[in-house]
Amino acid sequence: MSSPSSTLDQPLPFVWPEGKRAAVSLSFDDARPSQVDAGLLILDRYGIKATFYLSPPNIEQRLEVWRNAAAHGHEMGNHTLTHPCSGNFVWSHANALEDSSLERIEQEITSASDTIRDLLSVTPTTFAYPCGQKYVGRGESLQSYVPVVARHFIAGRGFRDETVNNPSFCDLAQVMGVDSDGHAFESLQAWIDRTVKEGAWLIFCSHDVGDFPRQAMPVDVLDALCRYCADAENGIWIDTVASVASYIHQQR
Ligand SMILES: [Zn+2]
Repeated sequence: MSSPSSTLDQPLPFVWPEGKRAAVSLSFDDARPSQVDAGLLILDRYGIKATFYLSPPNIEQRLEVWRNAAAHGHEMGNHTLTHPCSGNFVWSHANALEDSSLERIEQEITSASDTIRDLLSVTPTTFAYPCGQKYVGRGESLQSYVPVVARHFIAGRGFRDETVNNPSFCDLAQVMGVDSDGHAFESLQAWIDRTVKEGAWLIFCSHDVGDFPRQAMPVDVLDALCRYCADAENGIWIDTVASVASYIHQQR
């Protein structure tokens, strides 16, 4: 995560609802069981709705809890059916974006939405690019699959991006997502404070919730993050990726 310091003197000229000064979304990828085992309790305690980018094979491990979370307003987003990433990842070598096509990635996406609809009775309206990678093929025949995501969703979220979203300018089909795993609350707060100063939209991306060796947000960090974002003094609109993207779309 690079330095979040702002270079703006004035906030962006964009009007957030109810006098809020910025928007923050919390997102969690892969439907990891710790998200419902440890994360939901904290989010619900503060009345915060988060976005979960679900990997369908993991949903059935906690099916009833996911159903309940969906019914109570947490967003269930699309993260493809089989999580294809670069074949440079050993675990994705047999399911590599380099060997894929626009037709195959569209099939991945529509199959994931069908599965989520069957299991949870909700239809995903936003997407998170697995590994933040947005291409199929390689070299001169490489193609971006951002247009496929744009056809199916109101927003597509990246991963390990280096900045926040300018609501007047951002391409909703590839909004920036900032990695929030493995950080102390103070470093996440610096990102939020910069976002408020700019009047922008910050999307945090996490994986597990709890005490894990990698790709996790500790429980006390999630609690502190929720407390800070829910505090009306801080002027933050904290809501799902779908809610914020819809608002931005309407304002344009
Ligand atoms: Zn993922």
